Amino acid sequence: MRRPRILLFAILFAATCAVGAVVRRRGGPGAAADGWLVPLGVCGAVWAAAVVVDVVWHAWKGDGQACRSCGHVRPMKSFRPAGPCPRCGA
Ligand SMILES: [Zn+2]
Repeated sequence: MRRPRILLFAILFAATCAVGAVVRRRGGPGAAADGWLVPLGVCGAVWAAAVVVDVVWHAWKGDGQACRSCGHVRPMKSFRPAGPCPRCGA
């Protein structure tokens, strides 16, 4: 269950970066890239929402927070990781 989540975040982040690159290549906001600002906003919003939902979901379930690097779930202390990740040290 850990790998697909990390992969999902990576894909969403890559999509946001890709659309952002298109906007920049087309002259940035205000130029011919205006039509690309909507997908850029959607990608960014979906990515941010996915991260927030992930954090809230794990905190609410009380089983800790997943490590951003390796996905290992570690216990939380007052909404902060209790210490470095036991698996990868991040
Ligand atoms: Zn880790």
